[in-house]
Amino acid sequence: MPPPSVPGSIDAPTREALHARLRFYRDLGIGEFYRQAVELAPASESAPNGAVLPQSPAPTAPPNLPLIEENDIAPRKPFPAAPAQAAALPPEQHFAALKLIREEIGDCTRCQLSQGRNKIVFGDGDPNARLMFVGEGPGADEDAQGLPFVGRGGQLLNNMINAMGLKREQVYIANIVKCRPPQNRTPEPDEAHTCSPFLFQQIDVIRPHVIVALGQTAVTYLTGEKRPLSGWRGTVHPLRGAKLIVTYHPAFLLRDPNQKKHAWADLQIAMRELGLKPPARS
Ligand code: SF4
Repeated sequence: MPPPSVPGSIDAPTREALHARLRFYRDLGIGEFYRQAVELAPASESAPNGAVLPQSPAPTAPPNLPLIEENDIAPRKPFPAAPAQAAALPPEQHFAALKLIREEIGDCTRCQLSQGRNKIVFGDGDPNARLMFVGEGPGADEDAQGLPFVGRGGQLLNNMINAMGLKREQVYIANIVKCRPPQNRTPEPDEAHTCSPFLFQQIDVIRPHVIVALGQTAVTYLTGEKRPLSGWRGTVHPLRGAKLIVTYHPAFLLRDPNQKKHAWADLQIAMRELGLKPPARS
């Protein structure tokens, strides 16, 4: 079935469906789509008008994906530098320091995500956690409860944490942005850059040994560097004194359960860095 033509404007449901599809492909590490869709040309013809095709790896739009303007994809740059790392605090002061950051955020209106939120989702867990998870942003359940990862994705994350031999209360969980983006869209760069300094403050207070970034948005704004997820996974990266490990977002794993085994391989790297023993085989 040929792809539908793109009208001058896209209605809201179609736009949201496109963004959802883009998030899916972005999680796979396919981050760019071009209007010069080579699959539309006969196989024997070269690219028209000498068009320069994307360099390797050269992702192409799946046949049933409507062509979109590049402006629909959040721009990559500039990424402002992360704030300087704060001095370490004694463990007994971590709770109070996190409370101060929450007070500083207040009833925040620093970015447009404040307009549609119900509750600010600050973060949750042990202020002295050795393991921290960072996701993208709150969804509907999180927005309603004011806690991160409490919906279906949160249930899966809880299972992942339990599989590591830990309880949720032993880790710390936060997001790049603390307010729910409309229709769960990806945070815009200005929103992520406005909110993420608070996350960096939380990381500097907690000083986790390992940070697990959940998905492309998390690792992009944690590091200020955009690469396909495949370019991050499987390796330990330094981040603000912690060891950064990257895996899939639980929402992606719900859409594609076949990837769970790969996420488990990522978590085993985290376990190795934390000195946790693999669970006994039954
Ligand atoms: S997302 Fe962050 S910066 Fe934006 S309004 Fe919410 S708390 Fe403030």
